[in-house]
Order: sequence, then C-alpha cells, then structure tokens
Amino acid sequence: MSAAPDTDTDSLLADIDQALRERFGFDSFRPGQREAIDALLRQRRLLCIQPTGHGKSLLYQLPATVLPGMTVVISPLLALMRDQVGQLVERFDIAAASINSDQTEEENAEVISAAGEGRLRILFVAPEKLDNLVQFRFLLSLPVSLLVIDEAHCISTWGHDFRPAYRRILDAVVHFSERRPELRVLALTATAGDRTERDIAGLLGTEDAPLAIHRQGMDRPNLTLALRSVRGLPAKLEALLGVMREVQGCAVLYCATRDQTEIVAGYLAANGVPVTAYHAGLDPSRKRELQEGFTSGAVPMIAATNALGMGIDKSDIRFIAHVDVPGSITAYYQEVGRAGRDGEPATGLLLFDPGDQEVQRYFIRSAQPTAEDFEVIRGVIEGAAESPGLMAIKSRTGLHPTRVTVVIAELVEQGFVQKVLVGRRQCYVWTGREGTPDLSRYRQQLEVREGELDAMLHYGRGDPPCLMQALRIALGDESAELCGRCDRCLDGAVMPVAADPSPPLISAEAWLESRSIPLAGSRYPKMEPGYALLDGPMRGRLFAEFMRGRASGKMPPQRLVAVLRGVLDQLAEGRRFASIVTLPSRSWSCRQEVGDLIAEHLGAAHLPLLRYTREPEARQGALYNNDQRRDNVDGCIGYDAGVDIPDGAMLLVDDYIGSRATLREAGNVLRKRLRWQGELVPLVFARVRWKLGTSGMI
Ligand SMILES: [Zn+2]
Repeated sequence: MSAAPDTDTDSLLADIDQALRERFGFDSFRPGQREAIDALLRQRRLLCIQPTGHGKSLLYQLPATVLPGMTVVISPLLALMRDQVGQLVERFDIAAASINSDQTEEENAEVISAAGEGRLRILFVAPEKLDNLVQFRFLLSLPVSLLVIDEAHCISTWGHDFRPAYRRILDAVVHFSERRPELRVLALTATAGDRTERDIAGLLGTEDAPLAIHRQGMDRPNLTLALRSVRGLPAKLEALLGVMREVQGCAVLYCATRDQTEIVAGYLAANGVPVTAYHAGLDPSRKRELQEGFTSGAVPMIAATNALGMGIDKSDIRFIAHVDVPGSITAYYQEVGRAGRDGEPATGLLLFDPGDQEVQRYFIRSAQPTAEDFEVIRGVIEGAAESPGLMAIKSRTGLHPTRVTVVIAELVEQGFVQKVLVGRRQCYVWTGREGTPDLSRYRQQLEVREGELDAMLHYGRGDPPCLMQALRIALGDESAELCGRCDRCLDGAVMPVAADPSPPLISAEAWLESRSIPLAGSRYPKMEPGYALLDGPMRGRLFAEFMRGRASGKMPPQRLVAVLRGVLDQLAEGRRFASIVTLPSRSWSCRQEVGDLIAEHLGAAHLPLLRYTREPEARQGALYNNDQRRDNVDGCIGYDAGVDIPDGAMLLVDDYIGSRATLREAGNVLRKRLRWQGELVPLVFARVRWKLGTSGMI
C-alpha cells in the first residue's frame, strides 16, 4: 500500500528530474540511482546497499529539495558531514547544517534555532546526539519528511561495526512516523551481507511500510586486489618493505593491534620509508594532527588500526595494505574499499600469515560469553554479602573483562540483574527473576562471526578463483563475475615490486630483537614515560635467554646489556639520575647485581628502598585477569624509612612487566607513603602480555 497516490509520486519524480539538471547540473543519473529514488518515494522505506564512491548522497539530496519539510541525516562521519554541508550550501545553494561534537555549543545552538525556525532543508546529526534527551525532543519537534540513516549497518548487532548509539535511531523512526505517517526512511550502507540486510529489514520495516531493498553491484573496477602469503612477522615486515619502496601516493597500512602499528611504522622508517603510526591510544591532539596531515597529504603513509576509518574522508588513497588478516570479510571490503574513491587506479594488498587466524579466533572467542560465565557471574552477584560493583565482579570471577561487561549488560536487559546506586557507588543486585537467561543470541552470533572469519581465511589462502568476486559474493552481490585484474585472475604478481630489490638496511629479525618498547607515563602515580628492553609476544631469542637466566641466577646476556646501556643513555639525556630502585621480586635472583650495574653506568646510588612486607599470594602469571593481579599485589610492598633519597630523577627497575600492577603499587608507595616528589622513570627488561580470562602469557 502506498501512502501517496501515484500521481503525486509521479509529479515528485518529475520535479526530481528537473532538480538534477537545474540545481545539481547533471545530465543523467548513474545506473540505479533513479530506480532507488523511485522506490524511496513510492515505498517510503528503503535500504540502499552500494559501494562507496557511488554517489549515494544524491539519493537524499535530490528528494530533500522537492519534499516538503526537512531532511534529517544521521551520520557518524564527521569529516563527511563537514564536506557535505559546505558543498550543499556553496555549490548547490541548499540550506544545510549539522549538530555534532566537533562544533562549539554556540554553533550547535545556532543550528538548532535555524532548524526550529524552518530555515534549514537538510540537517546532519551525529548518532550520539540522539542519546541527549533534550536534543532528541527538539529533533522530534521538527517537520521531518525524510530521515536518512548513513552507515546503516551500524544498527545491526550482526554487522561488523555495531554501535549501541544507533539503537536510538529506531526510537527516532517510531516517533517521527507517529507524527508524520508519510515519513520516508532511507538507510544507506556500503556493506551489508544477507543476514545484516534481513536484520535491518526487520528493524526498520513495518507491516504498513515494509523495507524495500535496493542493491547495487559491489564491483570497484578501479581497485586491483593483491595477495601475498608470508610466515612470521619478520617475513611479513620485509615483504611489506619490498612493496612500500615502490608505492606511489597516499597509503594506509591496516594493522590488528596498536603495537603492530608501531612495529610496522618503526621498521619501515628504520629502512628509509617514512610511515607514521596511528591508533586510538594516541593523545587527541596528536590524532587530530595526523588526521589533518593525512588528509592534506603532508603525512602520506600511515600504519593504522581500524580506529582510522570512520573519521577519514580522503578520496585519493592509492594503496591499502592489510598487514594482519581482518576478522571478517565484510570488514575487509569496507576497509580496502577506502582506496581509490576518486575512481583512479588503486591497489589493495592482503599480507596473509596463516598464523594470524589464532589472534582473530582469540578476539572472537574472548568476547563471546558462555553459559558457565553466566553461572559464575550469577554466583558472585547473588552470593555477595554486599552488592558488588563492576571491578569487584571482574576480580572475583577472573573472567575476561569484555565478557563480564557483556554478560552483565545482557542480564540487566533480561531483567535478572538491576543496577543500583549505593551511596555514590554503582552496584549490581540479583532481581530474583525466575528461570535462566536466554543465550541463543550468543550461540548464533558466534556461528556468524566464525563463518565470516572462515570466509576471510578462505580469501587469504587464495582459494577463490577471483578476489574481487569473492568479496562481492560474500556481500551478497550475486551478479559478481571474474574481475580479470586481481592476483588470482592474473595468476599472481600484480603488485609492483622492483625486479632486483635491494636488501633491507636492517633485517626485520635484528630490528625486532633490538627494539625497545616505549612504556607510557602515568598520572596516578605520577611516572614519566620509560622503556621495556624486550618484547615478550615477539618471542625473540634474547627474550627466551633472559627469561631462562633470570630464574637461575644468571646475569643478562652481554648483547642485552649492550641494549640496556643504549637505553640508559637515552633516558639520561636531559635529566640527571641520582638513584635507582629495584622492585622486590621473589624469583629474580640477580636483581642486586643488575641494579649495581645500572647504578654504576648512570653514576647514581642503588638504594635498598623497597621490599615485600608480605609476599603476594600467587604469581601474577598464574592469575586470570588484571583486576585479580591488582588485588594480588595490593598492600604488599613496604619501604625502609631509614634510607635517604638523594635529589634528582629516580629509575625504577623491574625484570618484567605484564599488567603493570606491581609497578603501579611501587609507584604508589613512593608517592603516597614516602611522599617522594622527584621524577620517576620506569625501566623493565621485558614486557609480557598476560592472557585474559585464563593464566599464562600470550
Ligand atoms: Zn579477479
């Protein structure tokens, strides 16, 4: 059933044809565009799935100029909002503005009053703004005739990129359409597999106005896909170096972890290829600086986690490499699809190490709660004398922190647990609801995620006959044929690599072994940035030698002492160390001698300042998560009040660091109990990574 008689729709379509020519200056639509607009006007609710760079914004800009009332576009892409508003106002003379956290409160207030007075045609809103009740009510008061949901896959918990704030959009749709039954809803995405598509249809469609679906072919004719198989990180880095020496133009190297971005950028830079690391852990001003530098071309090549993506609107990226295999084939299409949005030739390379799948499976499994997790958490909440907070639940259960958060959110949603305020503390109480929680959603989700990963691994192994076709089919584009230009179609070697590549300046293995890892500073307790000499997860020979030797009373190997001296000199630049303090340890038997050696090198005093007042009950490595590790060392370090601390910086030395709990505890003793106020710099021999939710190191 259609809301408007078809003659009305026909006249709207005629207006749209006219606006296309007169206002936008185009002679004709791109394939599929007019059909999509037709479906939106007639059927009122439309999901449009089409590749990026296909002109999807025209699908709402055109109707916005002919429909009465306003168009509201909900979009998480701040950079895109800025560009669109500028373009609409300056180029097409359409009154548009946005409300987002990028703008000052005054700017947002000005937009709100312009919208309230009917001076705007198109209003862009960040989804997070819907969480603000005042702004939500204000939006509902507007005469909205078209609601656009950009990046609509974020609505679906099946999507690879689910965002909780997007759930509020569903409320908005219901409220708007209660006020205006003729409301049009347009959902846009570049990536939605069958399941996500069905999910979105269920969420946005109604009996009265079912969601029409318009799927554009997902081909990207200017994008060439390439694949290299490697084994181990050193081989991966050297393969990447060989490729990056030949790459022209802007490039993004996607990595699975923050560490990996530092490793990739560090190794390539050490070999004369200027690549910069970008990840969510950088401070906000540095992130902004890098985003702007990348957009302007001043920083042309970056190694990034997927934190870089949603905020970047850059159409001339020529090369995208995935250094680690992504967790799903949908995520891969989305990320590699950011290359060549200007239509000029671009390349997407996947460096595939079959060992990477372990990391991805671990990510999937560790976030996935099991029936036992629900029981364990129920036991802790129900059995507690005093209602526990989140931290206490994590510590008592020993479960992976993400799982605890997910399970509690689920228990609250299903009415088994209630969040209450006790004084100023947020705690959880069991409501006494009968029955058992329904976990079917998680079982299905696990299946889907593993299926998506398997499809990605299938791609990485080079099993499909064509790479572009494999991506398109995975995204539900049944029309996909062989692309004729990828590594599989051309039987290998589409990447430009010099015929006679010069060897690396420094081999990846040597670089990885001698690389010291920056330790971030901290505010509480106040500590300067320091270093770890060795990286546990890399499993270098030097690391193995040190760890074996430390327990049997051997001094660190000579090669490591050489690295140590280099780092000490670096730390001593611009500051004077007056003292060094070693952390108490029950198994590092030569800590005294190592401390003396460092003290001598720095010309500082080795102070016998810290000791155990009681030994921790367990080894940190035997515990299950970092809340347990914090509790394990809580209050166990004491100090010798008779020791004089000389003025000048203090170096705080430990054999290895995992959760940082012991280092923090020592820092607290120095700052809070000794009230020592000088500069405090941490130095540890090795950094290890504890597993979460189970014992041992990664
Ligand atoms: Zn192909």
